[in-house]
Amino acid sequence: MALHIETPLIHSHPLSAAAGRRVRLKLEALQPPGSFKIRGVGAACEVHARAGKRRFICSSGGNAGLAMAFAGRQLGVPVTVVVPENTPERAREALRREGADLRVHGAAWHEANELALSLVGPEDAFIHPFDDPLLWSGHASLVDEAVRQGPRPGAVVLSVGGGGLFSGVVEGLRRNGWDDVPVVTVETRGAASFAAAREAGTAVTLDTLATCAGSLAARRVCDRAAELARLHPVRSHLVSDREALQACERFLDDHRLLVEPACGAALAALYGECPALEEVDDVLVVVCGGVTASLEQIRAWHAQAAD
Ligand SMILES: *Cc1c(COP(=O)(O)O)cnc(C)c1O
Repeated sequence: MALHIETPLIHSHPLSAAAGRRVRLKLEALQPPGSFKIRGVGAACEVHARAGKRRFICSSGGNAGLAMAFAGRQLGVPVTVVVPENTPERAREALRREGADLRVHGAAWHEANELALSLVGPEDAFIHPFDDPLLWSGHASLVDEAVRQGPRPGAVVLSVGGGGLFSGVVEGLRRNGWDDVPVVTVETRGAASFAAAREAGTAVTLDTLATCAGSLAARRVCDRAAELARLHPVRSHLVSDREALQACERFLDDHRLLVEPACGAALAALYGECPALEEVDDVLVVVCGGVTASLEQIRAWHAQAAD
């Protein structure tokens, strides 16, 4: 049985009014661990559990780690999460609450990731946060649902970090005969690794990342995302951190749901100008969710945001 829930697809009056077009929301923020990640991570964990793996390991202190801890608890498989020292207490607490064996190691993510990889024995499964075909096909289930829940949209809007969600949604569009539905990919300007890949025609590594949207902060997207950017109709849109944060605050007012700036980025495409949506009159937005930012934190970032 799947570990994710079927999420509502609702019409949004406030966002439709703001965007001047019909906007529908796929509410992944309602997934029990707080984001769409459980779709792919849950599917991958189920496959590994069936194959007899006795422990799940990852190096994400964010929503992927939380989804994995949730999946492990549901499946009765122990979970080890290695996070770097700069991981906020709030995230550590959430992982411990979910029952993960939490290890803190290294100043930066790649050091935590190296330790995580070194722990992987023959009976363990390592779960990558965005670069894994099992993950993509799990994420694609959100399109399978949308196909049952309503008409074909004129475009799908979603946020891109490492490109796992994008790769999964495109797989879902293609496996449901919605291959011609364009995807509008949204990133913050300080973490635009997908826009860079799209321009270069191949995945490229950014020198620096500068964004409060931690879940979008991947220096390089997965190769599959770069490949699908060539095969599928895609339009890229960039927003500032300030726009993403503002969108989080407005969305809380409009729909009473608190989401991360990573998700606020996609919502900002509807609250603000978005040339990529020209001539699209029915938009489906993946409200990807995320639990790593409190309202106080969002307000504090907003007060500091430069643009
Ligand atoms: C992981 C995540 C993203 C980005 O997803 P990718 O698969 O890395 O592109 C966006 N928003 C939230 C809330 C996430 O957890």
